Amino acid sequence: MSRGTEILYKGSRITGKHDTPECEPIYLTNAFNVSDLDELDFVYDGGGYAYNRTCNPNRTLLAESMTYLEGGEDTLICNCGMSAITTALQTLVKAGDHILSDRTLYGETIDVISRVLGKFGVEVTYIDFADLDQVRAGIRPNTRVLYTETESNPMMGIVDIAAVAEIAHAHGCRLVVDNTFTTSYMIRPLEQGADVVVSSLTKFVNGHGDTLCGSITGSREFIKEAYEIQQFTGSVADPFSCWTVSRSIRTLDLRMPRHMDNAARLAAALEKDPHVTRVLYPGLASHPQHELASRVFEHGYGGMLSFFVPEDREKINAFMHALRYVRYAMTLGGPRTTIAHPVTSSHYDVPEEERRKMGITFGLIRVSVGLEDPEDLIADFTNALKVFDD
Ligand SMILES: *Cc1c(COP(=O)(O)O)cnc(C)c1O
Repeated sequence: MSRGTEILYKGSRITGKHDTPECEPIYLTNAFNVSDLDELDFVYDGGGYAYNRTCNPNRTLLAESMTYLEGGEDTLICNCGMSAITTALQTLVKAGDHILSDRTLYGETIDVISRVLGKFGVEVTYIDFADLDQVRAGIRPNTRVLYTETESNPMMGIVDIAAVAEIAHAHGCRLVVDNTFTTSYMIRPLEQGADVVVSSLTKFVNGHGDTLCGSITGSREFIKEAYEIQQFTGSVADPFSCWTVSRSIRTLDLRMPRHMDNAARLAAALEKDPHVTRVLYPGLASHPQHELASRVFEHGYGGMLSFFVPEDREKINAFMHALRYVRYAMTLGGPRTTIAHPVTSSHYDVPEEERRKMGITFGLIRVSVGLEDPEDLIADFTNALKVFDD
C-alpha cells in the first residue's frame, strides 16, 4: 500500500485488551464502525454506538452520573445550559401553549422563552413564584409548563418547589426547575415534586471554569421525547466537554462544602462591614426566606451571595482594582472567587425602573465564592472595601 493510504490506516486500531482503562477515555470520534448488518441492528436496538450526534460513550457516562445525582430515571446531556433549557421546553410546548414563569430568571432563559419560543406562538407570563397565590392565579387553560430556578440571580430568592409542584400538578401542568446555582448537593428538585430538572453543568457541577455543558433529567419517557428533539436539533455535548464534567463530578461533594462554608463566612463578615449596606445570602438570619432555605436546602446555603455598596461608579471601580486576588468574571461556580456587577452585565437590558422593582441597584455586587482559604478571602474583601471610606 502507498504511503498516502497507509497514513490513513496506521495507528487507527488498538490491539490487546483495552476495555478496562482506570480512567474513562475520551471517545473523540464522529462514528463507530459496525462489522455487518446484524451488528447494525444491535446498535439500532440501543446495544452500541454508531454516530456521535446520536450517541457517544462520554455522554452516556455523564448522563449516568447526572441521573444518579438528581435522582431521576434518565438524563440528556447538552452542549450548554441554554441548549438543555431550550431542548426541554421544545419537548414540552407547542404553538398556542402558555408557560407560567418566575420573573427573576437567568437573562438568556427569559430570552429563550419570550423571544425564541414566542416567535413560534408560545405565550408566557412572568410572576413572583415566592407568592403562591400569584402562581395559582397565573395558570390559564392553555398553561402547560411552570418554570423556575431553585435560587434566583442576583437577589438569592428561593422558591418552594414542593408547593409549586402541587399547584402545577393540580392543573395538569409540568414543573421545570433550573438547579444550576444550588446543584444536587443542596437540593434535588425531582424529589420535591418537579417533573424536569435542567442544569448548566458549566457552573458548580464542572466547577473548574473550563467547559460549557448542560443536562436535562426526568422520567425515562420524557427523556426519550427530549432525545428525539435533540437528535434533530443537534444540541449534543462533545466528548471532551463530557469528559471534563465527569472528571469534575468525582470531587463535587468535596468542593461544594468548601464553597458553601466560605460563602457563609464571607456573608457574615460582609454583614459586619461598615461599608456594606446589605448582604443577600440564604444562610443569614436577615434573609427574608431564611426559614424556607433551612427547610429545603441540605448541607448549607450555597456558594452564591450578593451585597450592596454605595451607588458610586468611581468607587466601585476603585474597589475592583483594590481586590488583590478576587477578579471580575461573567461566570460562576469556578474554583476562584469571582465578582459580577448585575446592572452592567446580566441585567443590562432590563429597563432601570423594572430593575429597581427587582431590587437590583448600581451598588449590587454578586459573588461566586471559590475554594480559597477563608481568611485570605475575607481579608481581600474587607481591605478593598476601605475604598468607600473617603
Ligand atoms: C449559566 C446559567 C445558565 C446557562 O448556562 P450555559 O452553560 O452558560 O449555557 C442557565 N441558568 C442559570 C441559572 C445559569 O447560571
